[in-house]
Amino acid sequence: MRIGMAKKKVVIVGGGYVGYEVAKELDAHADVTLIEQCEAFVQPPATIRALLDPALLDQIVLPYDRLLKTGQVVRGRAVSVSQSEVTLEDGNVYPADFIVLATGSSYAAPFKPAGDSIDDFRKASADVSAQLAAAKSVAIVGAGAVGTELAGEIAAAQPGKDITLISSDDTLFPMYPARLGTQLKRKLERAGVSVVLGQRVEDLQRMDVPYAGSVKLTDGRVVTADLVFPVVGSKPNTALIQTLPGVNAVPSGRIKTDKWLRPSDFPIVFIAGDIADVGDGMTIVAISRQNPWLIRTLKQVLNGQAIEDQKPYAPWKMAPILVPLGPKIGNSWLFATVGDWITRKMKGKELFIPKYRKAFGLSR
Ligand SMILES: Cc1cc2nc3c(=O)[nH]c(=O)nc-3n(C[C@H](O)[C@H](O)[C@H](O)COP(=O)(O)OP(=O)(O)OC[C@H]3O[C@@H](n4cnc5c(N)ncnc54)[C@H](O)[C@@H]3O)c2cc1C
Repeated sequence: MRIGMAKKKVVIVGGGYVGYEVAKELDAHADVTLIEQCEAFVQPPATIRALLDPALLDQIVLPYDRLLKTGQVVRGRAVSVSQSEVTLEDGNVYPADFIVLATGSSYAAPFKPAGDSIDDFRKASADVSAQLAAAKSVAIVGAGAVGTELAGEIAAAQPGKDITLISSDDTLFPMYPARLGTQLKRKLERAGVSVVLGQRVEDLQRMDVPYAGSVKLTDGRVVTADLVFPVVGSKPNTALIQTLPGVNAVPSGRIKTDKWLRPSDFPIVFIAGDIADVGDGMTIVAISRQNPWLIRTLKQVLNGQAIEDQKPYAPWKMAPILVPLGPKIGNSWLFATVGDWITRKMKGKELFIPKYRKAFGLSR
């Protein structure tokens, strides 16, 4: 940018893993506005352990006020997007040269804030934490990373509970080399977790919140538990983006993009993260690849280069994954299956909490 030239305006909607980092990294290069409906950033990977260690919540709810040096974080809900501006529910309009939509996804309570209130999120977490402490038996429906980690965290912190982890797949983590799933299963069983594979739950009563009750499996078995956790995946938040012309959703609800992460007929609008169907999973690991590309590419277009001259985004072929089972054990796939020590060092012990506190200008 030449001296005296006004900085270009970048408006980012959604201050999750995509939004906070893109805003922070472009802060010195553009006039950045980050629009976020929620009072604070919350780190979902640590919301699992917070059910066993409620004091952790104070470490993982991160206010936005120290995130940007020159740009602004605006609290509000974006309701419409045009070629040149973003409009909020309160009527305020933010002009933009470039727009990034990163509205992410929703998840069953108490693993992500359901709306804009941190008090409500804290209450949901505290309620389930108390129910979990009192429960003698727990059934976890869904054995993706969240379900598997939840089983491991409960077994590690509250041993002696009757924990059942249920998956409709025949193995844990079927997308990965078999060793990852078999090792995790063995460690869970050693910790006292019953791992039920190849069984679909026919009658999940609630998708939004844990409840006391029973679930019926495909083979007719009934599992009764003081607390049934529905952990069957993330739901992309695409209401805003669906209003753009030319948008194309896939059956999962995520939105297709061109080679440069643009989803619509508006060439200045980009998307990334959980809403974007670009060949990656709905994970922070995916975002750790998308964000550097997006930041680099936006810097080039802010400098006046054509987007079509930039290298297209290429997704992970097979993304790494870290699966702690509590703070001490676990397995990961980091282009080979690795065990407790690396999983503990990289994720299990601290859950990346210091990294995000630092990014938000907070002490450890
Ligand atoms: C319990 C749990 C544990 C997880 N653990 C891991 C893990 O260990 N590793 C991993 O790789 N992935 C993990 N994930 C997945 C990870 O959390 C998501 O992939 C990630 O949060 C997606 O980031 P995002 O920026 O796309 O969206 P989000 O993090 O969902 O952020 C979107 C933001 O947009 C805001 N927003 C939405 N609509 C609007 C609007 N209209 N106006 C203003 N603001 C809006 C929301 O309030 C939200 O803050 C986990 C998920 C869960 C639920």
